[in-house]
Amino acid sequence: VRIGGGSMAMIAGPCAVESAEVLDTIAGAVKDAGANILRGGAFKPRTSPYSFQGLGEEGLKILREAGNKHNLPVVTEIMDPRQVEIVERYCDMFQVGARNMQNFDLLKEVGQANKPVLLKRGMSATVKDMLMSAEYILAEGNHQVVLCERGVRSFEDSTRNMLDMSAVPNVKGQSHLPIIVDPSHATGRPDLIPAMARAAVAAGADGVHIEVHSCPEKALSDGPQALLPKQYAALMGDLRRLAEVMGKRM
Ligand code: PEP
Ligand code: MN
Repeated sequence: VRIGGGSMAMIAGPCAVESAEVLDTIAGAVKDAGANILRGGAFKPRTSPYSFQGLGEEGLKILREAGNKHNLPVVTEIMDPRQVEIVERYCDMFQVGARNMQNFDLLKEVGQANKPVLLKRGMSATVKDMLMSAEYILAEGNHQVVLCERGVRSFEDSTRNMLDMSAVPNVKGQSHLPIIVDPSHATGRPDLIPAMARAAVAAGADGVHIEVHSCPEKALSDGPQALLPKQYAALMGDLRRLAEVMGKRM
């Protein structure tokens, strides 16, 4: 999958890998809708230590199998430098989440790995902070970094975070790195995700990252913000048309 230079990363999947059956259903649906990368967390950074923490290596195996079966490369979160070896064995792309954007040891470690890194903006990080974190990875020799705007903390409490759409052209004015947008974590609301995904493509984003679940009410994490497969498919139709207007390929 090419990301940037006119090619878009359409990343989709559940917040967490929950079981082979559920992931298989979701992966098949997002593939049919046109996604080109499958996501799913096996190591989950949860606010509460009593919430579902992910299936660990078992989750990585399930993700890998779903990716192979549906011919989708897979991206999954890594939270600790000690996890590089195991996560690298199963993933095609590392995700460094908002909570670890400035975990510099982790950035250096994935900077030495031979796989692309999806680096998400920290919840109170400036655009410059995010670019400097990317620099940690680049400086170790790994040049395959994709940035992700996923909203920042604000006083607004009707949305999960405040989506900074200006980060897209802002980054593009300062860096050659591709940047995608995650309207799922940015808004936390399925009723807002489609409009923000469309706005992301119109703003020049190199892709979108969207959480999809076949049964959101039973999801073990981030269920309330998940799009149903049919909602995702409808959105992808819009995004395909917008991408064409923007002179991009999906
Ligand atoms: C996620 O992608 O599931 C996630 C935890 O995102 P973020 O790091 O942006 O909060
Ligand atoms: Mn999530």
